[in-house]
Amino acid sequence: MVEKIHILDRDFALSISSEIIQEKVKAVADKLNKDYAGKNPVMVCILNGAFVFAADLVRYINTFQPEILFVRFASYDGVKSTGNVRELMGLNANLEGRDVIIVEDIVDTGTTMKNILPLFESKGASNIAICSFLLKPDKFKVDLNIDYVAMEIPNDFIVGYGLDYNGFGRNYRDIYKVLD
Ligand code: 5GP
Ligand code: MG
Repeated sequence: MVEKIHILDRDFALSISSEIIQEKVKAVADKLNKDYAGKNPVMVCILNGAFVFAADLVRYINTFQPEILFVRFASYDGVKSTGNVRELMGLNANLEGRDVIIVEDIVDTGTTMKNILPLFESKGASNIAICSFLLKPDKFKVDLNIDYVAMEIPNDFIVGYGLDYNGFGRNYRDIYKVLD
């Protein structure tokens, strides 16, 4: 594990180690294991950022058999949230009467989640839970309950563990925060 990385024009410093990340992911998985035991929820991984979290999360699931789907939107440009959401890959599954667990990498202002929720609701899900790896509580500004959160973090822009800076940095198993 290196202390400092450089991506494109920016330097980043180590912020959260993979050991801590795995502990927190397992803790969230254990909550799901308790709440969904014996059920058959659909877990929807929001691409691209949540792919690493989702991959780790589902491998700690052992009390139920989830269906695992992927959907893709885009809302983030560089290091600043743009506030609008574009759907890039549609959700073509029938969620009628299903328990849905949305698996997201990070909830920042909450705008993205707020905007994509109606899409899931319109597909007839009987229950929708949001499971986010990270939450930035200081910036969170929408009226929405994030049911499962692995870690709360300060306002820094971070990369690694699936999260990118202009497309790069997703491969790191630790999390790094931007230096200015
Ligand atoms: P929100 O709509 O909640 O403000 O932003 C949510 C989305 O912005 C996340 O799904 C994620 O893609 C992106 N995002 C928010 N904060 C960060 C961050 O610190 N690093 C990276 N790489 N993406 C972020
Ligand atoms: Mg995301």
